[in-house]
Amino acid sequence: MSSLTPRLFVISGPSGAGKGTLVARVRAERPGLGLTVSATTRAPRPGEVDGVNYHFLDKDTFARLVDEGAFVEWAHVHGNCYGTLVSEVERNLDAGASLILEIDVQGALAVKERFADAVLIFIKPPSAAELRSRLIGRGTETPETIELRLANAERELALADQYDEVVVNDDLDTATAELSAIISRYEGN
Ligand code: ADP
Ligand code: 5GP
Repeated sequence: MSSLTPRLFVISGPSGAGKGTLVARVRAERPGLGLTVSATTRAPRPGEVDGVNYHFLDKDTFARLVDEGAFVEWAHVHGNCYGTLVSEVERNLDAGASLILEIDVQGALAVKERFADAVLIFIKPPSAAELRSRLIGRGTETPETIELRLANAERELALADQYDEVVVNDDLDTATAELSAIISRYEGN
């Protein structure tokens, strides 16, 4: 008999720290683990699919949804709007499994206010130099966006001590195992 308790996990960290990579690896090991698809006003990157990576919205549509109370939280991040739709959280909670929200630090703190037992997990890069090299290596950002994201990283890192757990993503296998162990611990197995 399973004694797992479904939990809401919120994952944040500077752009390029490896959040998306770690979440994909952990979800490959745990097929039931849900992930909310956020809404954003940023343009899709090559290969990103609407409704899969994000719900890509224009600014007017995003503003209308804000007015309608469609978001659990939303924030301005790196020059665009991002938000977690109530419908996405409900869809995943209805499935009865744990759920990951991969959102920025402002959103994470807002979620914690609304869902007091949400588990906040911060993903740290091993160093500022490695963060820069990963952002450049990913090849998705312009030089201007890279500088903006690196400038914001410092402010984000300063909030890591408000999180329940911190994972340093140095070696990818080690960090994946750590994240997976944290999820197991909070689910109680
Ligand atoms: P984020 O979602 O936090 O913005 P990504 O998951 O997109 O970050 O990772 C940024 C880049 O760094 C990607 O090119 C990814 O392949 C790479 N990466 C992620 N984790 C590691 C790691 N532990 N070691 C080396 N490269 C990594
Ligand atoms: P990216 O543009 O690299 O996909 O994401 C940039 C930042 O936006 C990341 O820190 C990511 O976690 C954050 N983000 C993505 N979705 C949401 C969301 O729904 N709400 C908030 N507050 N931040 C989000």
